[in-house]
Amino acid sequence: MKDNNCIFCKIAAGEIPSATLYEDDDFRVILDQGPATKGHALILPKEHYRNLYDIDEETAAKAFLLAKKMVKKMTDVLGCDGYNVVQNNEEAAGQTVFHFHMHLIPRYKDDNSGFGWNTGELTDEVKNEILEKIK
Ligand code: AMP
Ligand code: ZN
Repeated sequence: MKDNNCIFCKIAAGEIPSATLYEDDDFRVILDQGPATKGHALILPKEHYRNLYDIDEETAAKAFLLAKKMVKKMTDVLGCDGYNVVQNNEEAAGQTVFHFHMHLIPRYKDDNSGFGWNTGELTDEVKNEILEKIK
């Protein structure tokens, strides 16, 4: 299904032009317009899914296989030193466009991209609480 108000639906369908790196029946891969590093790309499914909570399993699996292919190819093209594959779900996690997408972020030694997070400490209390609840 497509969503008429969704910009990524329109980009994926080719109704809005984009810097397309790859396209097949299910996906379009484009360069991000606000790149974290040179070559930052987005995998967009052509069908509309809000995020990982509602994407179907087959499309999610295909998206990750495509991520692997693109990372290998783009590492050769860009000559980068590594990759972050990132996928945000809901506002609290930084999602700003509510059409499932995967970020492919090339990394270069000492690129100072600022990507990362502050690390905390896993306490016994929290660990035991989670392990208990997941049973
Ligand atoms: P997120 O914060 O995970 O929802 O990521 C949305 C991403 O989409 C951001 O990195 C934006 O720079 C990017 N973005 C938004 N609109 C466009 C657009 N029209 N073309 C390319 N990238 C876009
Ligand atoms: Zn959409």
